[in-house]
Amino acid sequence: MKVLVIGNGGREHALAWKLLQSERVNQVVCVPGNGGTANLKGCQNLPLSVNDFPAIGKFALEYNISLVVVGPEVPLANGITDYLQELGLMVFGPNRNGAQIEASKSWAKSLMQEAGVPTAKAAVFDQAHLAKIYVQQQGVPIVIKADGLAAGKGVTVAETITQAEMAIDAIFQGQFGSAGNFVVIEEYLLGQEVSVLAITDGVTIRPLLPAQDHKRIGEGDTGENTGGMGAYAPTPIATPELMSRVQTEVLESTISALNQRGIDYRGILYAGLMVADNGDFRVLEFNCRFGDPETQVILPLLETPLDELILACIHQRLAHIPPLVWKSGAAATVVAASAGYPGNYQKGQVITGIPNAEISGAKVFHAGTKLNAQGQIISDGGRVLNITGWGENFHQAIAQAYHGIQQIEFSGMYYRRDIGHRVLKFIG
Ligand code: ATP
Repeated sequence: MKVLVIGNGGREHALAWKLLQSERVNQVVCVPGNGGTANLKGCQNLPLSVNDFPAIGKFALEYNISLVVVGPEVPLANGITDYLQELGLMVFGPNRNGAQIEASKSWAKSLMQEAGVPTAKAAVFDQAHLAKIYVQQQGVPIVIKADGLAAGKGVTVAETITQAEMAIDAIFQGQFGSAGNFVVIEEYLLGQEVSVLAITDGVTIRPLLPAQDHKRIGEGDTGENTGGMGAYAPTPIATPELMSRVQTEVLESTISALNQRGIDYRGILYAGLMVADNGDFRVLEFNCRFGDPETQVILPLLETPLDELILACIHQRLAHIPPLVWKSGAAATVVAASAGYPGNYQKGQVITGIPNAEISGAKVFHAGTKLNAQGQIISDGGRVLNITGWGENFHQAIAQAYHGIQQIEFSGMYYRRDIGHRVLKFIG
């Protein structure tokens, strides 16, 4: 079977790598892919835009692609699934209507309220002055969110009224384009963030191992928000009791509310939770796709062939496949980023040491990398590599990831030295 993977991040490298472990998958084509997918045995890159649906569709038909797996949210929100399904292709990822759960925070909020999902108190505005009055009434800290997709940059946790007002102005002055037609203002929640990704065929919901990401650029979870600086799974903070509540109060009620809106949601439903110290939780957001970097720690632990799971989801047969099988132990990934990220950063730095990192036992998933004319791997983005380790426990997994990253060099390479600090404290 030939599989097309859409996207160019660490998530897509991990998806291609995992799919190729199945005996049924003999080839993966990545659109547009990165340096890691270019060098992966059985995989090749195709330099098309993820939003060029006609070109992707034409290629998939001509090349007899059996399955398309969509990584990022933007093509899903733009309707890639609907487009390719109309051509008769099999696609993993929700349709455009379903992807609204991520593409519009106000839409997701009203769905959550309808479904009775525990979530932060919020209000939605389409005018700056009304939003500002609400902020005055609520006080700070408070969270200001652009409604639409803004690559993680549309959210401000405001500590002062002035900060909140500036965030509101930036959104309505068009900093995020049409993503800022509405603003969602949300109560500030304290706790630890946990990512629960589940695969669903619109009827059956199978949660994957719960993970935790590190959103902030700085050690001790300080500084600016990023796309994610490291992750680990399965997090013990998501206890069996919490997971059982998430299954009924979040995942099942959301799928049933989607069904009531006439949406046949098939793909990944990712609930971003804030878990308080007393174990209570609220949903911060939903995503309609695999998380990045969570995928890079979840897939190495998955024993069930990924293609089997994906096909069962597309054919609405998830209820008929055996329970998911996981490796015991834990996985951790550390992101190597370019100096300056999440602000301005340089690209084009030659990266060395990846083979040594892999010889030492780590797996390196590429994110922002590409091959130069000499076949060298060079940096090509803010988040460059995900150095991943897995083992019998968190200590082993984290040590393996750090041992791996120490073999790697590129000019300006930055990484956090404290990935996993919360879980290490938790397990003692
Ligand atoms: P991403 O693309 O990174 O997932 P996003 O743009 O979809 O982000 P959210 O996930 O809703 O936006 O928020 C980004 C981050 O802001 C969260 O991961 C969390 O750290 C913080 N945040 C969001 N909502 C709240 C809240 N109500 N209370 C406290 N922190 C919050």
